[in-house]
Amino acid sequence: MEIRLYNTLTNQVERFEPLTAGRVKMYSCGPTVYDFAHVGNFRSFLFADLLRRFLEASGLDVWHVMNITDVGHMTDDAVADGTGEDKMQVAARRLKEDKKSGKVDEGAVANPDDPYEVANYFMHAFLDDGRKLGLKVASEYPHRVPKATQFIPEMQQMIATLIARKHAYVGSDGVVYFSVESFPSYGQLSGNTLEALRVGAGGRIDIDNQSCKRHPADFMLWKPDPKHIMKWDSPWGAGYPGWHIECSTMSMRVLETDVLDIHTGGEDLIFPHHECEIAQSCGATGNELFSRFWMHARFLLVEGEKMSKRKGNFFTVRDILSGKATGTPVHPAVLRMELIKSHYRAHSNFTTKGLTDSANTVRRLTELGQRLRDACGGVPKKIDRADHPVTKAFMGALANDLNVSEAMAVVHAWISSPGEDPAEAYGVLLALDQVLGIWEIAANDCQARDPEGDIAASLCAMIDEARRARDFSAADAHRQRLIQLGYEVRSSSDGTSAKKKLA
Ligand code: AMP
Ligand code: ZN
Repeated sequence: MEIRLYNTLTNQVERFEPLTAGRVKMYSCGPTVYDFAHVGNFRSFLFADLLRRFLEASGLDVWHVMNITDVGHMTDDAVADGTGEDKMQVAARRLKEDKKSGKVDEGAVANPDDPYEVANYFMHAFLDDGRKLGLKVASEYPHRVPKATQFIPEMQQMIATLIARKHAYVGSDGVVYFSVESFPSYGQLSGNTLEALRVGAGGRIDIDNQSCKRHPADFMLWKPDPKHIMKWDSPWGAGYPGWHIECSTMSMRVLETDVLDIHTGGEDLIFPHHECEIAQSCGATGNELFSRFWMHARFLLVEGEKMSKRKGNFFTVRDILSGKATGTPVHPAVLRMELIKSHYRAHSNFTTKGLTDSANTVRRLTELGQRLRDACGGVPKKIDRADHPVTKAFMGALANDLNVSEAMAVVHAWISSPGEDPAEAYGVLLALDQVLGIWEIAANDCQARDPEGDIAASLCAMIDEARRARDFSAADAHRQRLIQLGYEVRSSSDGTSAKKKLA
């Protein structure tokens, strides 16, 4: 089966074949761990997960690496000029406030002034969310999930190589910069030109340190700053690395190669992050290519706008799952379905209607799965993916630049008529789910087979919690929500219960 994927580097859909037959080396930019991940972040992470699972189901051995950015970076990270406020400092301040208000457990981070503790706390929160949502790489931690703070010496080595090869220099402010003019193909990924970047520099690139740099688009590799919240000794003074150099270093080191097969991230990372990664990596190795394919997920939107921490219009994974965000708890399998079901190159809108549709899909799939598993005693027939008409159509759709809508159409049609032989159908379900990862999360969780019952139970618990806190308006809102869903609600001294009203 020919696999075709869209490559941001060439702006076209191309045939994909790994450099080494049978093995794919793939790197995904991971989270900056200074806050809980939001569902927009997870759209990018789960896109990479879907791609990885599809490649695996196609018979390839995939080395998938996702990094953790745990170095204290600046809020104006994108330009990597070391301007803005330190993200770990912001996180520490917020954590202290959240502890006071009870939003975060008192025992969660004993010392919020210790940036390592803060980063560690949010890293584990990310890994927990990831495991719940079936993000395979999260279950592989610490294998293939490198932390930036573990690779400082390697980053310094790469910076020294770049200086030796005349791609980097120490500016008059003592900061080590990458010289974009030393790398003629700078701009190849994003379509930027050095001239346009010089003209358009104001606003995006810090003006204060222009005079210290040779070109306004030159970006920081090492910033000496003895007062920085996280700092390391270096030949250029105690300080910290630039954001871009982290990913160049970790990807090549952990994947044990200087040419990757695939590099992924959200669309906002194309410039400057990925453009800079290419310049640094190729500058250091002398190769023309750093990653053969660059793949980017379009943003998840809320009411037409990018969901982002900066804008404050975001929902964390935990607030969605617990029901805090929308008033209705959501099963992880449902959130996963919602985040993978639209094409990665289309903007998708996060809505409650979308979640309801995803809940229906999950319910249909898990009800069928349960029925088939019971009927065949949990013993599936072995399915030849390339040969069985259902899996063949499903994989064929995904081979066309991950056409997930077409693949889901195959799944829906199959759920409606899964065939006569339950062992064969159960085998098909498991084969499909190797990529979907839905049954995998829901199979041993009886609540997921009844997402609505799950929601009702959670709403009852939320009513009791609100009543205990004497927040009667919240209790009433949850009660109304249950009534809307068609439930009869009873509260007694034993707590609240809900029963579906017969139509
Ligand atoms: P961060 O933790 O901010 O470094 O972001 C982690 C990943 O999430 C990056 O690949 C971003 O491109 C991606 N991302 C951030 N916001 C969104 C969004 N609204 N939709 C999709 N991906 C996003
Ligand atoms: Zn990165």
